[in-house]
Amino acid sequence: MMQTIRNQRAGDLRSAIYAGVEMGGTKCVCVLGRGPGDIVAEEVVPTRDPATTLEAIAQVLGRWHSGVGKFSAIGVAAFGPLDLRRGSSSFGRIGATPKEGWAGVDLAGFFQRRFAVPVDFTTDVTGAAVAEGRWGAAHGLTDYAYITVGTGIGVGMVVAGKPVLGCHHPELGHVRIVRRAGDDWPGSCRFHGDCIEGLASGPAIEARGGVAAMDLPADSPIWDTVAHALGQLTHMLTVSVAPQRILIGGGVLGARPQLFARIRGCLSASLNGYLDIPEVTTALDGYIGPPGLGRRAGSLGALALALDAAVARSTTSTR
Ligand code: ZN
Repeated sequence: MMQTIRNQRAGDLRSAIYAGVEMGGTKCVCVLGRGPGDIVAEEVVPTRDPATTLEAIAQVLGRWHSGVGKFSAIGVAAFGPLDLRRGSSSFGRIGATPKEGWAGVDLAGFFQRRFAVPVDFTTDVTGAAVAEGRWGAAHGLTDYAYITVGTGIGVGMVVAGKPVLGCHHPELGHVRIVRRAGDDWPGSCRFHGDCIEGLASGPAIEARGGVAAMDLPADSPIWDTVAHALGQLTHMLTVSVAPQRILIGGGVLGARPQLFARIRGCLSASLNGYLDIPEVTTALDGYIGPPGLGRRAGSLGALALALDAAVARSTTSTR
């Protein structure tokens, strides 16, 4: 009898539909579906103050839930910092973000109160990493990293098949590095100055070059310092969590794909022959590359979380 119930639940999960919400600094992308090839509905809500934004998202989900397809779970991939520690008194809340009005907002609680379905949530960059593992350029890998280079620099790390989460989610964009010889620009991070984000994010490039990163000439020497900083980040990842692949996405790399070759060169020079493995010798082009899902990685990451939340609920309820 138990097996019958499990089979029936597995069939229910296959036919079920899910909701994902990617919450970004300027917009929130809501999707309804089952995966990249099966998105039933998608709507974008501008990010304003918390009450307005969350209510607008809830309206979209509510309309879908009652009219388009009754979803089985919700996944939320949001800008952080977030408290993801289960059992913490502030679990599900946004941390000390400079984004006005959002610090302390209870994201998980909001969606749980509005919809009687399982809800899971994580950071936008971890969500994108999860989606790349499920459907994208990290499919089939157990250990990999997803770096986004845009308004900020974030790193989603999956180790032994699970996103890394200890006392906090990783904030590797804020690691300090060995600077490029002769470069002493102080950097733009308001906490650390010349951390990776302070040297290579979109705002850092603009602060240094005087024009938006997209408008900076391809031959500007600033790109050398950006490639160097990201090369240092890939060095640190390689010698610490030893990923099978490193994906780099986000607006800056999307607009300047020629940076990939320079980042690989910087990694190779920085490692200086220390590691004799194909990933960093003969197969470097495959080791560091673009994500497979492009700009959809974030919203698909939210959807992947919803799928996992529904499976977790099903497993728990059949025990
Ligand atoms: Zn920093």
